[in-house]
Amino acid sequence: MKKIIYNFSAGPAMLPKIVLRDIQKNFLNWNNIGSSIIEISHRSQDFYPIIQKSEKYLRELLNISQEYAILFCPGGARGQFSAIPMNIIKKFNCADYINSGYWSYQAMLEGKKYCSVNCINIKQENEIISLLNMKDWELNHRTDYLHYCPNETIEGIAIHEEPIFEDKIIVGDFSSCLLSKKIDVNKYDLIYASAQKNIGPSGITVIIIKKKILNKNHAYLPSILDYKKILENQSMFNTPVTFSWYVISLVLKWMKDLGGISYFEKLNIKKSNLLYKTIDSSSFYINKIHKKNRSNMNITFHLSNSKLDKIFIKQSEQQGLKFLKGHKFLGGLRASIYNAMPITGVKKLIKFMKEFEKNFG
Ligand SMILES: *Cc1c(COP(=O)(O)O)cnc(C)c1O
Repeated sequence: MKKIIYNFSAGPAMLPKIVLRDIQKNFLNWNNIGSSIIEISHRSQDFYPIIQKSEKYLRELLNISQEYAILFCPGGARGQFSAIPMNIIKKFNCADYINSGYWSYQAMLEGKKYCSVNCINIKQENEIISLLNMKDWELNHRTDYLHYCPNETIEGIAIHEEPIFEDKIIVGDFSSCLLSKKIDVNKYDLIYASAQKNIGPSGITVIIIKKKILNKNHAYLPSILDYKKILENQSMFNTPVTFSWYVISLVLKWMKDLGGISYFEKLNIKKSNLLYKTIDSSSFYINKIHKKNRSNMNITFHLSNSKLDKIFIKQSEQQGLKFLKGHKFLGGLRASIYNAMPITGVKKLIKFMKEFEKNFG
């Protein structure tokens, strides 16, 4: 019998087995057309239903109204770091950027190339690490938008509040948490997420944008980053990553079949609670993030004796628990447990952690 592998990678991440099997089964002769899905034109009749369905499923899952357009873009979330200021900067030529960790900081650095930024540090590093609540964010009144990242993938730190700022254009980098829990899309003007965390394979970034903010475009705006142009061309201004798009449609269908966002939200809370409970109930494992700011997707921790990191990683891999090494920027350990990580994988990790502590604690 082959050993089951649980892949805790932060992205590209684990995908549902049932979806992978479906892809495999239909790979050479998709839909009985005698060709593979990756051999057909994005403009063909055969591909069209994939485009339609992925938008339809996404609208249903997140309850997205027709006030919003949905775009499937190339260039990753990093591409959006540039596209966002170029598309939506207006009269103030300035934007608020919340700094809560690595990715929001990277977005700010890129934004700074195109406008001036009001960078607001909200991370408080004491005995416990926490983020300032929204009501204490010191926003500038003369900015065109506010950018923040509700789930910092590398640090495993999250903002669970929803925006409370009535008169601001709100932009959220949801790369590692879109579809993990219920959100009120109406509270945002632009939500973006690169697919390879929780939505599908790499290559596509999903954008949910309020049509109202698709306004005049600057002359210098590259067409490939121009939201209006992308919308007018049904996300096919350039040739899209058809394979990723196809897989995304299957993942969204899988989510709907299992009960939609509320099913996954419950499961994600359960999975992450199990892991945090294991970490908190021992002084061998440490996570210093305040409970209100803990991520349900990326659970970071470290060993009280960091010399054991290497052995932990090696032994966990031997057990089929892969990619638990923390990001190089932070060190330590990280378990990314997106929607496709079954609870059995989390339980197996916990069993391993307890045994490891017994042996080395
Ligand atoms: C992964 C990630 C990114 C970068 O995504 P790319 O697709 O590699 O550009 C940006 N923001 C967050 C929150 C991420 O998790």
